[in-house]
Amino acid sequence: MSAHSVDGIGMTSRRTRQRLIDRLREKGIDHPRVLQAMADTPRHLFVDEALASRAYEDAALPIGYQQTISQPYVVARMTQSLITTVKKHTRVLEIGTGCGYQTMVLSRLVNLVYSVERIGPLQVRARDLLYDLKVRNVYLRHGDGFDGWPENGPYTGILLTAAPSQVPDALYEQLAVGGAMVLPEGDRHAQRLITITRTADGYERFEGAWVNFVPMVSGKI
Ligand code: SAH
Repeated sequence: MSAHSVDGIGMTSRRTRQRLIDRLREKGIDHPRVLQAMADTPRHLFVDEALASRAYEDAALPIGYQQTISQPYVVARMTQSLITTVKKHTRVLEIGTGCGYQTMVLSRLVNLVYSVERIGPLQVRARDLLYDLKVRNVYLRHGDGFDGWPENGPYTGILLTAAPSQVPDALYEQLAVGGAMVLPEGDRHAQRLITITRTADGYERFEGAWVNFVPMVSGKI
């Protein structure tokens, strides 16, 4: 991959990207490192070439297999919740790698990212792209996120990019004391952003904005 394609031109240029960052700031994203991570992540490379000119619109876009790349505002919002709830993240588990966009944003902000994707071809595509983009602190697995990734836990942060109807038990267990989990929870029609923190005494739950994610589905394909 050439530096030229990472930098982008025209509708994918740094300038177009900066307009998206201004928009995120207007919508309440104020954490400087989160804004920087969003600015540094070339979203146009995570979507099909035919959609690259729309990559810096604040909208979800299709990535194949009936899945979507999340809306930048929602990626920034969830990332900001995760980052501001915990003082220092050593390891973060993401469920739903998809094209790897949210994965790369996280990789700029925490030491290690572990990410699980159930659809094999999406996982392979994300792996190759993140490798080309020289993202080296990310470990990817083809598996079912309902099981989490127990071998590397507990995690200071867990972020889901697909919506379960209820938080899976395995993920509660793999959250470190002092850690935070951010997810969309609900059915296909009504989901809310939830933040769960784990203290020495148990779990605390905060309910946030209404959102619209693809459902979390069990089993890998
Ligand atoms: N993180 C992506 C969003 C991808 S959409 C981004 O940055 O844009 C959500 C992803 O979650 C899809 O790729 C879907 O296949 C995956 N997914 C759904 N259920 C899952 C499960 N049980 N385990 C792992 N991944 C799952």
